[in-house]
Amino acid sequence: MKNPWWIKRENKPIDPFSQRAKFQQFYQSTKWQRTRLIKLLESPLCELCLASGITSPAYHVDHKVPLAEDYSKRLDFDNLQSLDHSCHSKKTKQEGHNKKMREIEGYMSWLSDFN
Ligand SMILES: [Zn+2]
Repeated sequence: MKNPWWIKRENKPIDPFSQRAKFQQFYQSTKWQRTRLIKLLESPLCELCLASGITSPAYHVDHKVPLAEDYSKRLDFDNLQSLDHSCHSKKTKQEGHNKKMREIEGYMSWLSDFN
């Protein structure tokens, strides 16, 4: 359904399905594949492990600020970190938790509007 003209585009809520499709498309792009490879060649070790003196090969290139939070930083080398499998899955889990907490907070503030 098309929005009427008086509803501004930027006020449109984000459709999680179209956002997911956009991210998927990005991860498959040559630009990302190339950036990812350069990053892994530059820092082939897990950066989080390395900070605690552990040497562990990295397989993932992670966005410090996730795509959902700032899409403009998707190819920004300062926003990328090489991670091994265990650090990557820990971070992904934490992000899922943070997202849920934000949703709960949003719901709570919505509820408090009725008080
Ligand atoms: Zn690690």
